[in-house]
Amino acid sequence: MAQLQAKGATARTQTLLVVDDRPENLEAMQALLGDGDWQLRCVSSGEAALQCLLDEEVGLVLLDVQMPHMGGFEVARLMRGNPRTRYIPIIFVSAIAQTANAVLQGYATGAVDFMLKPFDPKVLRHKIHSLLEHERNRSELMQLTQQLDSARAFNASVLDNAAEGIMVVGEDGLIRFANPAMAQMLGCSVNELQGSALLSHLRTPAVDCEWPQSAFYQHWRQNKTYRVHEASLRTRDGGSVPVALSCSPLPKLQRAMVVLALDMSVVRSLHSQLESQAVTDPLTGLLNRRGFHQALESALSRTGRSGQRLALLYLDLDGFKRINDSLGHGVGDQLLKRVGEQLKASLRPYDTLARVGGDEFTAVLDSLGHSEDAARVAEKLIEQVSVRHSLNGVDFTIGASVGIACFPECGQTVDSLLRAADMAMYEAKRAGRQQYRFFLPEMNGRARSRLMLEESLRTAIEHNDFILVYQPQIHLESGKLRGFEALLRWQHRVAGTVAPSVFIPLLEETRLINRLGDWIFHQGVRQYGELSRRFSDDLVLSLNVSPVQFGMPQLVEDLGRVLDEYQLDPAQLEVEVTESALMQNLGNTQEQLRQLRLLGVKIAIDDFGTGYSSLAYLRHFELDTLKIDRLFIANMLDSPRDAAVVSTIIDLGRNLGLEVIAEGVETQAQRDWLIEHRCPIMQGFLVAPGLSAADAGLFPAQLDWEALPLHVPPKA
Ligand code: C2E
Ligand code: CA
Ligand code: CA
Repeated sequence: MAQLQAKGATARTQTLLVVDDRPENLEAMQALLGDGDWQLRCVSSGEAALQCLLDEEVGLVLLDVQMPHMGGFEVARLMRGNPRTRYIPIIFVSAIAQTANAVLQGYATGAVDFMLKPFDPKVLRHKIHSLLEHERNRSELMQLTQQLDSARAFNASVLDNAAEGIMVVGEDGLIRFANPAMAQMLGCSVNELQGSALLSHLRTPAVDCEWPQSAFYQHWRQNKTYRVHEASLRTRDGGSVPVALSCSPLPKLQRAMVVLALDMSVVRSLHSQLESQAVTDPLTGLLNRRGFHQALESALSRTGRSGQRLALLYLDLDGFKRINDSLGHGVGDQLLKRVGEQLKASLRPYDTLARVGGDEFTAVLDSLGHSEDAARVAEKLIEQVSVRHSLNGVDFTIGASVGIACFPECGQTVDSLLRAADMAMYEAKRAGRQQYRFFLPEMNGRARSRLMLEESLRTAIEHNDFILVYQPQIHLESGKLRGFEALLRWQHRVAGTVAPSVFIPLLEETRLINRLGDWIFHQGVRQYGELSRRFSDDLVLSLNVSPVQFGMPQLVEDLGRVLDEYQLDPAQLEVEVTESALMQNLGNTQEQLRQLRLLGVKIAIDDFGTGYSSLAYLRHFELDTLKIDRLFIANMLDSPRDAAVVSTIIDLGRNLGLEVIAEGVETQAQRDWLIEHRCPIMQGFLVAPGLSAADAGLFPAQLDWEALPLHVPPKA
C-alpha cells in the first residue's frame, strides 16, 4: 500500500525566482537576497521566467510588472493557466506608483502581494520567508492528498476485485458495506445488500434468536473472531451457497465487524465426492467394506435405542473362483455386477447392501420382527443368485451361501456381528452350499420349521383346507342346548387334523388370520343359519376372535356384512375375546366393544381367570358372558384354590348379571360340582367335542343327563 510521506519536502531548499528586465535591478536583488536559506534564480524576461518555472520547482516568484515583450501580468496569467504553476505565489514588484486599477488587476491575475520600489529589504525578506513557508505547506498538503487518493483507490480496487465476499456489518446487525463478489454470490446487487440484516441471508446455522443473542454479536462484544466453517447463505432466488464465514471485529471506534464469506461450493462437492468414493465399491456401486462398517455402526445405534432387532447377512458366492479363473476377470467382474443388482432388487430399498470382498456381500436387515424373516430373505437371495447366467455367450450357474447373525443375540458390535455372520456362512458352506445358517444353531431349527409351517399355511388357505367344528354349550340345570362354539380345524393332507393352538399364533404373527378370519365368519354364519333352522331362534353361535382380529378397525363392519348376507339376527351371535385382546389398547377396545354392542352381538370373555382378571374392566366394559378357563375346571375337584376361583367367578357373573360358561367339563363329577355351585352353562368333552356341521345338526335340543355318554363321534 502507498505510504504517505508527510514531511517529504522539508529537506529541499526552495527556489526563489526573481524576474526583472533591468540588470541593475537584478544585481540589487542578488545583493539583497543572495544569502537567504533559499536558492536564488534571476532571469531578465517573462519568457525566461516561464522557461525556468517549467524546468524547476519554484517556491515563489518576484515579478517585475513593467517588462518589454511580456509584462508581469501576462506572465502571471500564463502561470495561472498551467496546473503545474497555478498555485505558486507571486509578489509583483513595481517602480512606479500603481493606480488602484493596476493593483486590482495584479491581484486578479493571482498576485499575493505588491511591493513598490523602493521597498524595505527587511519587509521583503520577511514576506519571502512566510510565503515560501506557506508554499511549502501547500505543496506538502497536495502531495499528501494525492497519496491519500491513490491509497483509497487502491483499497477500493482490492475490495472490488477480491474473489471472496466481504461485508462490514454494524453492531446493529445490518450490512453497511458489501463488495461486488458478495453481491454476486447472493445473486443481488450491492445496493440491495446494504442496509439489510446479515441474519436474513443466513440459512445455516439456523439462528432462531434476535441479533443481540446471536453468536455473531456475542463474539463481537467480546472482541473475538467468530468462524463458521459449515455455513450456507440464502441466495435471492431461494437457492443456497455453502460458505465458510469469518467475522472479525473492526477497531472499537467503528462499532462494526468485517465478515468474510468464502464460497465453498466446489470444495464441498469435491469433499462429498471423495467421501462417497471412499465408501463405495467402484465395480458394483454398492457400499464397500468401510462404508458397510459405517452403515452397520449407525444401524446398531439406531436399533439399540429403539429396542428392535436387526440381522446381518453374509453372502458368499459358490463357484465364483472357478468362473473367474476359467472365463477371465472381465466376465468375473460382469458377474459380480449382475449379482449386486440381483441382490439389491431382492432387498427393501432401505436395507443396506455392500460388497465387502471379492465375491462376498453383506446386507443389514433393519427393524426385523423375527429371526425367521432373516431366513426368508436369505432364501430369496440364494434363489435370486442361483439362476442360469449367460455372459459372453457362455451359460453357467453359480450359487450362494449365507450366514446370518442377529442383533442382539449373536453380538452387540460391528465386529462381533461380522465375525458371527462370517462363521455362520462357513457353516452353511460346510453343510453343502446353497444354504443359509444362523450363527446360533437353535435358530436354524426354529426358523426352518416356522418357515415350513408358514408356507404350508399359505397353501392351506389357498386350497381351503380348513373346516369349522361346533362344540355344544348346555344349560346345566335343564340340559337344554344353549348354542355352539365354532372351532377351527386345519385338515392337513399328510399330518391329518391340526389343532388351532399350533397354528393360530403363527396366523396372528403373519397377519394371515385376517384372510382366514373372513372365511371363518362366512362359513360359521352360513352353517349356523342352517343349524338354527333345525333348533330354535335363540340358539347362540360363538365365534372366536383373536387379538389381531379384535384390533382391526373393520371387524364390526365385516361382521355386520356377513350377518346381513345370511339374514341372521345379531343377537344370536356371540364374539369370544380373550382378556389380553381387551387389554392391548384400551382406547381402541372401548370403541370396538361399543361398535359391537351397537351391532347387537353378544360379547364373551374367553379363558376368564387366566389373564389380568381385573374387576375394573368388568365395570367399564359392557359384557354378556364369562367363560371360565378349562384349566380351573380340570383342577377344581383336587385344588381348593381352583375351586375357589371357579365359584367366585360364578358368583361374580350372577351378581353382575352375566352368563357364565364352564369350559372343558370332562366328567360327571365336575358337572355335579358345577350344578351344586349354581354354574349356569357348560361346554366340554363330557357332552361332546367339536362336531362337524352335519353332526351338530343331529345333536339333541334337550339333553338327557342320564343318557350320557351320548353316541357322538370321537373327539376332534
Ligand atoms: P378356546 O376358545 O378356549 O377353545 C376351547 C378349546 O378347548 C378348544 O380347543 C376345544 O376343543 C377345547 N376343549 C373343549 N372341551 C374340552 C374338554 O372337555 N377337555 C379339553 N381338554 N379340551 C376341551 P381348540 O379347538 O384346540 O382351540 C384352541 C384355541 O384356539 C381356542 O381356545 C381358541 O382360542 C383358538 N381358536 C379355535 N378356533 C378358532 C377360530 O375359529 N378363530 C380364532 N381366532 N381362534 C380360534
Ligand atoms: Ca373360545
Ligand atoms: Ca376358552
